[in-house]
Amino acid sequence: MTRESQHISTDFLVLGSGLAGLTFALHAAGHGQVTILTKAELFESNTSYAQGGIAAAIGESDSWKLHEEDTLTAGAGLCDPGAVRFLVQNAPDSIHWLATLGVRFDREEGATSLTDWALGREGGHSRNRIVHHADRTGWEVERAMNAAVRAHPNVKIFENAFATDLLQADGRCVGARAVLAEEREVDFLAAQTMLATGGAGRLYQHSTNPRIATGDGLALALRAGVPCSDLEFVQFHPTTLYHPQLRSFLITEAARGEGGTLRTHDGDRFMYDFDEQLELAPRDIVARAIDEEMRRRDTWCVYLDLTHLPRERIERHFPTIIEKLNSVGIQPHRHWIPIVPAQHYMCGGVITDLTAQTGMPGLLASGEVARTGVHGANRLASNSLLEAMVFAKAGAQAAVATKIERPTHFEEPQVRRCVPESDAIRLRRVLQKIMMERVGIVRRDAGMNSALMESEALLSDFAALPEAPYSQYSMEAHNLLTVAPHLIRAALARRENVGLHFNADLVQS
Ligand SMILES: Cc1cc2nc3c(=O)[nH]c(=O)nc-3n(C[C@H](O)[C@H](O)[C@H](O)COP(=O)(O)OP(=O)(O)OC[C@H]3O[C@@H](n4cnc5c(N)ncnc54)[C@H](O)[C@@H]3O)c2cc1C
Repeated sequence: MTRESQHISTDFLVLGSGLAGLTFALHAAGHGQVTILTKAELFESNTSYAQGGIAAAIGESDSWKLHEEDTLTAGAGLCDPGAVRFLVQNAPDSIHWLATLGVRFDREEGATSLTDWALGREGGHSRNRIVHHADRTGWEVERAMNAAVRAHPNVKIFENAFATDLLQADGRCVGARAVLAEEREVDFLAAQTMLATGGAGRLYQHSTNPRIATGDGLALALRAGVPCSDLEFVQFHPTTLYHPQLRSFLITEAARGEGGTLRTHDGDRFMYDFDEQLELAPRDIVARAIDEEMRRRDTWCVYLDLTHLPRERIERHFPTIIEKLNSVGIQPHRHWIPIVPAQHYMCGGVITDLTAQTGMPGLLASGEVARTGVHGANRLASNSLLEAMVFAKAGAQAAVATKIERPTHFEEPQVRRCVPESDAIRLRRVLQKIMMERVGIVRRDAGMNSALMESEALLSDFAALPEAPYSQYSMEAHNLLTVAPHLIRAALARRENVGLHFNADLVQS
């Protein structure tokens, strides 16, 4: 790897090109030079895989108050009410903003106005309020945003640029160090840095998240001592495909919103035993119900049944899902779909305020890497894309309002070392299994304590391995190993079962 002695200077540095990063970039670009670093191609992000849509109270019988109520209910008493109100009140504007960028949301049949959007329903929502683009909303949002940032004269994009460290000077974040595609290590100095690196789904053996979700931003923040919280609240999506050729492919909640039902292999509609909202109960309840049913009956999966729904309707609403299922021989109008829960979303992260400011001056965070307080102990479906947009915009507005000079120096960060890839793969797999089995949907003290000891030992093993040439895979493994013990400690410290955190030892007998 070569090291550039020259640094690159910019006003706003953005780490990540999902919805949070690109929203920030577009709002800041009118006021200064924006530089985006993203570790894969611009398009690659959790955002691109979002299926269901974005929540906003824009329907006639809806109001931000109802959206607020639903969000607070899902959060099980642990939301920050101010953050929730800010989120829901800004939701309709955010949707209109996306539309002005060219995002094509589905419209009602026979709609006369351009903004007469079709509103879907998802678990935990008391109204139809999910705007969407068939079942590829995230793909459509990224398409439009990618075009907008690529066209902006003030935005410079570095693809395949992996941020390895935050740069600091006198307690302030002044940019980031990154390894670029040709293995050139470059320091990017910025007046303000936006951490928008997404989640850490790859901590778990089964996750709906794409390969980029390796908790890099969280690890960067944790290493720099930036306060994080709520890491124990990990959302598992109840319905991901159980099939060897399409592991953890997500079947959107909207499929249950359309009337899909859950069944055991002998046809029992088991949600009657768990919640009065049946299949539309919040995700944690549905995921735990499935977990319990699978254990009770000693089966590997349960089934999502769409066979009673009109074929034309499901093909129109879920074209991507139907295409994927057909590719492995499943025809949802005839066959039940085998499903299992998989890790899906991290509610916790870097603590931020309403303007995305973290505990470190000069560093902002938004999107899945951040903990804004809107999710509390559980995220309401389709609130995360919204959160990424609302808080990234507020962050950009605050950042452009504070006139900060571009920094000129930084303190040399600690040297990061890589280990042989085969070892990184091995350590990462062991960690993912530990997390899935002992820090997953149903947890126990003994399991978490042993998981903590073993994950710390894995981190020590990593440090003891021989140094190897630069490898992004190794860097990511190190980041996952850094984040895991923090998450496990947070789960052990939570002494009540609330929202997504369920410790079987805390159940009153
Ligand atoms: C299958 C699936 C379906 C979903 N469906 C919905 C839905 O319907 N509605 C909803 O609201 N939410 C949904 N979500 C959640 C939502 O997509 C994410 O929470 C949201 O997209 C996060 O946006 P983000 O900008 O924070 O991160 P991301 O979109 O994940 O972007 C993170 C970016 O950071 C980059 N990056 C990461 N580490 C580094 C590094 N070290 N250096 C440089 N760049 C880095 C990545 O390459 C990526 O570009 C879904 C998630 C998944 C996985």
